[in-house]
Amino acid sequence: MHPRLQQDLDQFPQILERTRHLAEGFLAGLQQRPVCPPLASQQLQPGDDRLADEGDGALAALDDFWLRYAEGLSASAGPRYFGFVTGGSTPAALAADWLVSTVDQNSQLSHDTVAAAIELATITQLKNLLGLPEVFNGSFVSGATMANFVGMAIGRQWPGQQRGIDVAEQGVTALGPVQVLSANAHSSSVKALSMLGIGRDALKIIDSLPNSEAIDPVALERHLAASIGAPTLVLASAGTVNTVTFDDLPHLLALRERYPFWLHVDAAFGGVAACSPRYAPRLTGWEQADSITVDAHKWLNVPYDSAIQFSRHLALQMQVFQNHSAYLEAPTLRPDNYLHLTPENSRRFRALPLWLALKAYGRSGMQDMVERNVQLAQLLGTALAASEGFRLLAPVNLNVVCFALKNIEGDAVAARDRFIARLDRHGVVRCTPTLYNGQPGIRAALVNWMTQESDIHLALESMQHCLAEPH
Ligand SMILES: *Cc1c(COP(=O)(O)O)cnc(C)c1O
Repeated sequence: MHPRLQQDLDQFPQILERTRHLAEGFLAGLQQRPVCPPLASQQLQPGDDRLADEGDGALAALDDFWLRYAEGLSASAGPRYFGFVTGGSTPAALAADWLVSTVDQNSQLSHDTVAAAIELATITQLKNLLGLPEVFNGSFVSGATMANFVGMAIGRQWPGQQRGIDVAEQGVTALGPVQVLSANAHSSSVKALSMLGIGRDALKIIDSLPNSEAIDPVALERHLAASIGAPTLVLASAGTVNTVTFDDLPHLLALRERYPFWLHVDAAFGGVAACSPRYAPRLTGWEQADSITVDAHKWLNVPYDSAIQFSRHLALQMQVFQNHSAYLEAPTLRPDNYLHLTPENSRRFRALPLWLALKAYGRSGMQDMVERNVQLAQLLGTALAASEGFRLLAPVNLNVVCFALKNIEGDAVAARDRFIARLDRHGVVRCTPTLYNGQPGIRAALVNWMTQESDIHLALESMQHCLAEPH
């Protein structure tokens, strides 16, 4: 064995202890850490792209990394990172994630680990938490982008099946053009269309309802009626990123009765609201969808990277993802046969963080997280609406506040960007830019388990402070 490997094998306990120590320090300082560290600290230091010949051993490498780069890490796991849709990590999920790397299992039906059985049970518990029926199968993938990819990959197989074409075998050209209809598809779904060979151009944007991000079912029906016979995927939103608007799923289901299409529901973060009886009605109808996306690293607060794809078409899914090789078990149709149901071959034991979090906090813990975030988003929204310097661009539907600067003279985009840059430099709260209804906006998305009322006050103070600074 290489002497450094031998040394690290002997020092394993010290290496783990050192890691624990660094992690503890990071977590203890998370509330004070800038949400956006200084730009200089985000740069690579000279020489650090050079490969070492001998290596320093893990302890020295660890200390060197921490010394040089800890300052360049964002408090994105903390309670005031409202940019994008960024979850943190509950203690149970973090503990599990450490163990995932430690035990380093390949989550497959390989008859040598319990990992796949726990993944299946985690999916079962999540369906229970979110009110999804048993008929759905599901698996862990790296994020909502991949969950959307999987949903649409099966959705592409389905119109082929109707026409006696096996797209997985014959390719998408055998099927011909697929049309993909959506009012507000997330950009990751557009990326998935590219990866799937359906093509970004296949997306036809359907009008939204007036003053809403929800699809206009009448406009959708008009389009469906004019394209009868075309292979069709409808991408519904269950929580848009700007205003957390939910498409009218019962209405879409009624249309599906008349004009057959594959209904994929992107519920990346909005779907988690189904764990609250108060907000579950927003998702009414999703239990009839063909495929569903739910992110775990957002509102379920497990570490990156983790999401769940659900579908009710196990056989079709296996047609797409089956993987034949002399050294692998043949694809038998069962919901935990992940090798034959997901894009990956080897897979991290990605289910464990959610499994442990559900054990640790249960239904009521998840519900608290969701309801507290929504209540705090409403508090933030109310305060911004009542302020001198800000106005809401849309009502606070759930956990996202979409707002803008008030009384801006001149270039509104530039003013917004200057404000966000000042906010970043102040480091207390992170918000990210958007465009809503043609207007430059700012988003604050609340999905972190730690966020409390005091964080909203700190965020508001920082926003007022950055507004008052000379422009
Ligand atoms: C975040 C998000 C995605 C993409 O998710 P990743 O986990 O970043 O891949 C897709 N759809 C919606 C609605 C999202 O909010």
